[in-house]
Amino acid sequence: MIVKNGKIVLEDKVIEQGWIKIEDSKIVQIEAGTTDLPGLDVEGKWILPGFIDCHVHGGYGVDFEFGDAKRFEHFSKNIVQEGVTTYVQASVTNSTANNLKYLTEFQNFMQQKDSQVGKCLGAHFEGPFISPDKKGAHELSLLQKPTIAELQKLMEVNPQLVKIITYAPELQNGEFTESLLANQILPSAGHSNILFKDFEMHHKQGIKHLTHLYNGMSGISQRDPGLAAAGLYYDDVLCELITDGIHVDVETIKLTYKIKGYQGICIITDAVNAKGLPDGNYKLGNLNVTKTGIKVFLSDSGTLAGAGATYDHNVRVMLKTISNLKMNELIYMTSINIAKQLGIFEQTGSITVGKKADLVILDKNFEVVKTFVDGDIKFEREKK
Ligand SMILES: [Zn+2]
Repeated sequence: MIVKNGKIVLEDKVIEQGWIKIEDSKIVQIEAGTTDLPGLDVEGKWILPGFIDCHVHGGYGVDFEFGDAKRFEHFSKNIVQEGVTTYVQASVTNSTANNLKYLTEFQNFMQQKDSQVGKCLGAHFEGPFISPDKKGAHELSLLQKPTIAELQKLMEVNPQLVKIITYAPELQNGEFTESLLANQILPSAGHSNILFKDFEMHHKQGIKHLTHLYNGMSGISQRDPGLAAAGLYYDDVLCELITDGIHVDVETIKLTYKIKGYQGICIITDAVNAKGLPDGNYKLGNLNVTKTGIKVFLSDSGTLAGAGATYDHNVRVMLKTISNLKMNELIYMTSINIAKQLGIFEQTGSITVGKKADLVILDKNFEVVKTFVDGDIKFEREKK
């Protein structure tokens, strides 16, 4: 297939008018200019690498923790409308027994490759190995210290399923980090009350990823700087950022961008099951929540209860907030950085000959028009 007359966003530049040839799910040719070859004419729209969300808990009525293979499939079919081509299923703190039940269902889903539309890479455990001091909405009684014995249990179902673990580094002495690295699981510091100075050794040991910077962690203080300060300081630490405009103030997004630059941030949604549903009252686990626009909050107290924005919304907020942001810088935050971090950059994450044709077409308002996964159109916006 030929996709032509698009503004192609490459790693180092934008081809203002160009075309791409896709063969056997891969990108085989990228050219500037136009072509007489028959193909899909995108009429000047943007062509970007598909977005990668490494931290999403659900959406479209699906709550990963309470889901089965069929529900995971429903999510996978819907996520492509956000321009997301690859994602990691995140779950919050749960008992070991429930986590194993979840992993068994997850394994069923992952084994049926044709049930996947958006590509699911694996599981992100955001807990139970987190600090009681920064537990957020996680259940206090279910928190655990990060131990190798507990990690081995999570890897029992299938060691390949677990891709990311968020944990409070101060709850272990480095052995847990080592074990994650040895098993190709990405160690991510989060829900932690650690001080900047104490994080230094964990950084040296290999923690180079932070779970939703600012949210659920010790912050930036002039006398007791915490994990957020360390995340900003270390150039080689990739910080997840919820850029919905609610969880992190837009001025804080500006500050973060100024310090970290486009190579130090990856945009996530942290979205929950109500994402993609009409406004109304829903259940989040056992909690009653209300969704209004992109806000999801506890119905009785009004406290934020996870995020309700789609990935493409968060991309638009980023573009609006950072006024001089170039499109070839944006794609580092949506695709390239996290693809490198997860070890999949050889296959996807940028528009490069030889890589999978995982692409998103955006119109001039940065709304998703089409999404390609492995070279096939998996989402197409209805004509307005
Ligand atoms: Zn989360």
